[in-house]
Amino acid sequence: MKYNFGIDIDGVLTDEGPDNNSIWQQKMNEFFDREITLKEYTYDLAEAFAINNQELNEFIQAKIEDVYSSVQPAAEAKEILNELYQEGHRLILITARHEEHRPLTEKWLAKHGIPYHELHHEHNKAPLAVKKNISLFIDDKKENALEIAAKDIPVFLVSKYHNYDFDGNSKITKVNNWDEIRKNIKLFLSKNAHAGKLS
Ligand SMILES: [Mg+2]
Repeated sequence: MKYNFGIDIDGVLTDEGPDNNSIWQQKMNEFFDREITLKEYTYDLAEAFAINNQELNEFIQAKIEDVYSSVQPAAEAKEILNELYQEGHRLILITARHEEHRPLTEKWLAKHGIPYHELHHEHNKAPLAVKKNISLFIDDKKENALEIAAKDIPVFLVSKYHNYDFDGNSKITKVNNWDEIRKNIKLFLSKNAHAGKLS
């Protein structure tokens, strides 16, 4: 049986670095020329780094392309996605990055040898996950995970400071890295193969 995998980019395919020295923090330090530190465990960058919304907008305008193009890929992501690709599964990347960053994103994916079948720019991921018949979704944003899981699609939620307060549930499995993602994908595939035989 072949499956459609839904995969987020930022925080999943990218390695943003440690919580207390992420690429976001490093670039903000440079941009504002003052010490920026992680203050709140929230997805909202302004709140997380205690900057105001105007500063955040200025930073995003000036530096977002720098972050997107210089961020490192997550270890093992390329190898594991290549395995899935070769096994005949479909890899559907769904990112909330703005469409204007598509050429840069395609270039980054090619540069780091990350295989995929489709790339979608979509903020509201759950309806697209349903439309694309996604069997399993991998994301790092808790709100996305909850919305996708509510559509009865299992989710692997990559552990980040902004989702530390959520341990997962029957549909959402917390994972720390791609090694754990690989183990859980194997489990998912074997469970589904077994269920297929019984039905
Ligand atoms: Mg993300």
